[in-house]
Amino acid sequence: MAKTDSKPRENFSNFTPYKMKKGEDYMSNDMLEHFRGLLLKWKQELMEEVDRTMHHMQEDAANYADPSDRATQEEEFSLELRTRDRERKLIKKIDQTIDRIDKDDYGFCDQCGVEIGTRRLEARPTATLCIDCKTLAEIRERQTGI
Ligand SMILES: [Zn+2]
Repeated sequence: MAKTDSKPRENFSNFTPYKMKKGEDYMSNDMLEHFRGLLLKWKQELMEEVDRTMHHMQEDAANYADPSDRATQEEEFSLELRTRDRERKLIKKIDQTIDRIDKDDYGFCDQCGVEIGTRRLEARPTATLCIDCKTLAEIRERQTGI
């Protein structure tokens, strides 16, 4: 098992970038479907990853008798569990995003209402802020130290 505490990827790269047709409206039905498909594929991938680790951990758990091995193993498991936890949160966020697509409330900044933009959304499909508001929020976060 890999000894990583890596964050799950905050994006998904296995897709074809959307090409807007001439005169097409931002967040047209086709565009919304594009993002729905992308989010569903990403979710699928994350869920398979969670499954794989769970299996792995169950198999491994039986194979350690030595107490020092067990300690190492427990450490690895807790790292894995933390990663799984982040993945589950990300899956939840993806579900919420798909929900917004269903309600036709996707692709606009929660703060100022401008178009977030297809390229930014493809880089981060769960984004709810435009790049300006996001940058501002990050600066504030750094200043208040939260
Ligand atoms: Zn904004």
